[in-house]
Amino acid sequence: MTSNFLNGVTILTQEMIDDLPVCDIHVHLPGVISPNTAWDLGLRNKLISVERKENGEYICFSGPNSLSIEDPHEHYLDIFNRDFQLDANGQPQNLKYAIDFESFKSFDRIMATVQGHRNPPGGIQTKDDLLFVLYRYLEECIKQKIFYTELQQNIKIAYLLFPDENRENARKQLYLLFQEVVEKFQSYGVHLRFLHCFNKTKAAGESKSTHERTLEAALWLEEAKKIAPGVLVGIESAGHEKDQTGWPIHLKAGYDRVRELGLGCEAHGGEGIGVEHMLDVIKTLPITRVAHGFQAIEDSEAIEYLKDNKITLVMMPIINLNLGLCLHVKEKEGVYVPFAKTKGGEKVHFRKLEQHPFFELFKKHKLKITLGSDNPEFGGVSIKKTIYALAGLDSEYQLPENFDKLNAEEVVTLCLNGIEAIFGEEKLKTGYKKLLAHWIEKYQVNCSINLA
Ligand SMILES: [Zn+2]
Repeated sequence: MTSNFLNGVTILTQEMIDDLPVCDIHVHLPGVISPNTAWDLGLRNKLISVERKENGEYICFSGPNSLSIEDPHEHYLDIFNRDFQLDANGQPQNLKYAIDFESFKSFDRIMATVQGHRNPPGGIQTKDDLLFVLYRYLEECIKQKIFYTELQQNIKIAYLLFPDENRENARKQLYLLFQEVVEKFQSYGVHLRFLHCFNKTKAAGESKSTHERTLEAALWLEEAKKIAPGVLVGIESAGHEKDQTGWPIHLKAGYDRVRELGLGCEAHGGEGIGVEHMLDVIKTLPITRVAHGFQAIEDSEAIEYLKDNKITLVMMPIINLNLGLCLHVKEKEGVYVPFAKTKGGEKVHFRKLEQHPFFELFKKHKLKITLGSDNPEFGGVSIKKTIYALAGLDSEYQLPENFDKLNAEEVVTLCLNGIEAIFGEEKLKTGYKKLLAHWIEKYQVNCSINLA
């Protein structure tokens, strides 16, 4: 153990992080699909064909089945960078998604194609495809010691998975399928819950307005609560902040209804057009958690509001860096100072991890923050890799030597903030805290937790 007794903090090691029990409360279901899993889904659904030539080499091409004409990709293979190789067994090596540099739009398009429900058919087409994806995620949870996780998925996927059922029955089948999956995860000591997540913008390609779709979401969650209680535990909305059709006023009625049902409410905010939009999100919607929220740094009003209302920021710094970390700033004596756009700030992209507002919001402003992985296989990284990076232990995302990196005491705070903010049952909290207390004791971390 390396303890820095001078400051009373414990320096994190890779071993400690590997051994840490964690909660990952912000994960998009399609975001757990690695490029290789997406490839396997493409093969399963004949969107990709692989053939062995006479000389023994493998080649791939678009399969006999096509994507919908509405899909932004002409061929399923277009979701991948084409510089991969097929090995001696016909398996792709070094396969990556073709996400354009810092482009949320290209990321969103690929995710929708893999998920398959926006313009079917896509990567996921059957109940077995979904189980295939979920059980690969279970393996990952076990490996990473994820005690509790919330996966976000649009309930609408039910119509794709159960095409022979009427809509109500299809949704019912989905709730029961999710229940079965929750039980399977539980048998491995992983507590899984689901959130209904929908794209709040026009990109959803729906004729219904966002207002109508949020109310519909509340109805579905009420229905799910009756059929499979405790499985779908809250609501989430996503999509580009620029599109005004998805702004908070249109989400409010549905979110209020979900809150009345006693279910959890989270929304994305503060990752795109600026702190003004984030303030609108946190003031309009009855949320206890906001995803990302790093643009809070642009305005002290947002920081104070988050503190006063005990709202948890679920932060995912690495995916922000990968998809474009944008802040509004003013330049003062050669230094960028975060500043709201409406107060004269101008948009600047940041590319270094140490510039991410996470550090200041957490260490200086003491906001209630936890970490998530968002899309661990899809533009983002796993929760454990996120912690390595913030602790200065990841070679890909380096921090300057003298930088105040994340220490073990701070990681405990992030973990406790995470379990306190879950939408699942209260009783899970004690189970997790016991595991965390054990870790604290094992590594002689300088803090204690109240197990009550
Ligand atoms: Zn997200």
